[in-house]
Amino acid sequence: MKNETKCIHEGWKPSQGEPRQLPVYQSTTFKYDTSDYMGKLFDLEAEGYFYTRLQNPTNDAVAAKICALEGGYAAMLTSSGQAANFFAIFNICEAGDHFISSSAIYGGTYNLFGVTLKKMGIECTFVDLNISEEDLLKEIKPNTKAIFGETITNPTVNVFDFEKWARVAHKVGVPLIVDNTFATPINCRPFEFGADIVTHSTTKYMDGHGVAVGGCIVDSGNFDWSKYPDKFPGLTTPDESYHGITYTERFGKGAYITKATAQLMRDLGSIQSPQNAFYLNLGLETLHLRMARHCENALKIAKFLSNHEKVSWVHYAGLESDPNYELAKKYLPNGTCGVLAFGVKGDRAKQNKFMDSLKLIYIATHVADGKTCLLHPASHTHRQLTDEQLKEAGISPDLIRLSVGIENADDLIEDLRQALELI
Ligand SMILES: *Cc1c(COP(=O)(O)O)cnc(C)c1O
Repeated sequence: MKNETKCIHEGWKPSQGEPRQLPVYQSTTFKYDTSDYMGKLFDLEAEGYFYTRLQNPTNDAVAAKICALEGGYAAMLTSSGQAANFFAIFNICEAGDHFISSSAIYGGTYNLFGVTLKKMGIECTFVDLNISEEDLLKEIKPNTKAIFGETITNPTVNVFDFEKWARVAHKVGVPLIVDNTFATPINCRPFEFGADIVTHSTTKYMDGHGVAVGGCIVDSGNFDWSKYPDKFPGLTTPDESYHGITYTERFGKGAYITKATAQLMRDLGSIQSPQNAFYLNLGLETLHLRMARHCENALKIAKFLSNHEKVSWVHYAGLESDPNYELAKKYLPNGTCGVLAFGVKGDRAKQNKFMDSLKLIYIATHVADGKTCLLHPASHTHRQLTDEQLKEAGISPDLIRLSVGIENADDLIEDLRQALELI
């Protein structure tokens, strides 16, 4: 099946007489007839659900759909994108470990990696997105366990050069983890370019309607943990909290997701509610239609803005003049996403006047749903960062992030035009 068909038909596959639509299993618990069978569930020897803090059939059907869209081996839903990125790292890093991340990432992830994980004894080195292969290799330490980046960076909308980062990761024997939130598997499938694990904030395009916070982790199954037993003991040595199971031996390519479910979900409980997974599934059914429209509208608006005298610069990889154009052609030939960044000439007061004068387009922290909105990272999402950190993340103080929705592009352009005229 092609991805358009998978959006509709993957995941929930009812057998005879079962509901055609994905049911919401609004149940915390699941019933069993024998004590022995229940015991086997707890030993991961039998398959089945027992408690929704760990797994729920609604969630698993939706995770299976996203897994199929990404071309992965196994997947799990989490309560948010933050939880997905936290689990993705924490599943293979513990106190004393180190990983490398591109510094051009979502502000919440930057904070998670630089502040919260640090408190847990996990050290992250942030490096420039355009770092050379040689310099990236120099950042590797004996305790480095992963490399992390975003397909399309939020909010600077740069494109990740997968092959460069994957070469380094695989040369030193660590997985490449990529947050594919902005591109979605409709526009980019990171596993085809060497990523090993993909994460998502499903809150964005996948849900697409701004109704449900959620996340997802997909494992390609391609990274061979057992080749580096000293580096990933959590996967390659017995887990005493599961009666001595060794995940790589018992679950093979499913080791990473099984461990994240059995250990992290059990202990940290960041499960997505089945109701939210149901909404997410509705969003996924139309994802392929919406992504095409987001890209079409964003390109029209990027062209309009780049020709406007009051706009100082526009950054959208779909523009031929954009420094990311070639990378986008290589990795995202069908389009990037609906998010673009631009600067309005003048001082902070003028930028605020422009934003406040919009009538249709509204100010919101959110991105990537059907309704066009914008935000000013330096005064909103990234306000906890110092100017130095902002610069490191490639965010200029005048950067406005515009998330283009699926309205008629002419209406959006008209709104931008009248607001720009007022400054
Ligand atoms: C929003 C976002 C996140 C965090 O996701 P939540 O669902 O808000 O927790 C992570 N990465 C990227 C790229 C995002 O845009």
